[in-house]
Amino acid sequence: MKILIVEDEVKTGEYLRLGLCEAGFAVDLTHDGVDGLHLALEGNHDLVILDVMLPGMDGWQVLTQLRRQQKTMPVLFLTARDQVEDRVKGLELGADDYLVKPFSFAELLARVRIILRRGRGTVEVTTLQVADLELDLLRRRVSRDGRRITLTAKEFGLLELLMRRQGEVLPRSLIASQVWDMNFDSDTNVIDVAMRRLRVKVDDDFDLKLIHTVRGMGYVLEASEEKA
Ligand code: CA
Repeated sequence: MKILIVEDEVKTGEYLRLGLCEAGFAVDLTHDGVDGLHLALEGNHDLVILDVMLPGMDGWQVLTQLRRQQKTMPVLFLTARDQVEDRVKGLELGADDYLVKPFSFAELLARVRIILRRGRGTVEVTTLQVADLELDLLRRRVSRDGRRITLTAKEFGLLELLMRRQGEVLPRSLIASQVWDMNFDSDTNVIDVAMRRLRVKVDDDFDLKLIHTVRGMGYVLEASEEKA
């Protein structure tokens, strides 16, 4: 899941970015309203966290433009002003929720999860399953053959991506951008290291291996034994 933060207070933005990354989200951060609008129009974000008072273009204008251009991703407003008319205005413009500063990170994270859950609507799955491997998106739990597997936030994000796109060979560059929110740098083996750890946890104790390396191409998760 990818989140865009538009927040001109550098410290707040960085604090949110780090917290959300640790919670397993891929995060884009910008400090300017105009950049924020461009990123939101071009990127595939599942949620935008939008400050109201911004240089370049304020949060209201950014949201208005997004909705005008048929971008329907949920928007969570951050407002420093606890004024009823501000909240009403945001909600009227099509914001999904708002938080009044100062707020705790735990509160923000809870709101983010609720909005993302709501945004998925009633038909969206909350559990991914491949063979006997299960990933519960809401409880953020993974189990195989009924046995709980404990993953770090990054490992969870990685497994979620592999399971959502099961059967597809995912290049390292795509994994890097979706899970690490970074451009792939061939000098880094961070993906391979994480993948190795994930495979130990997911596959080592089982005869049926689910995660496979496709030499020179990337990784695929599928319940077939052919690509061992
Ligand atoms: Ca601001």
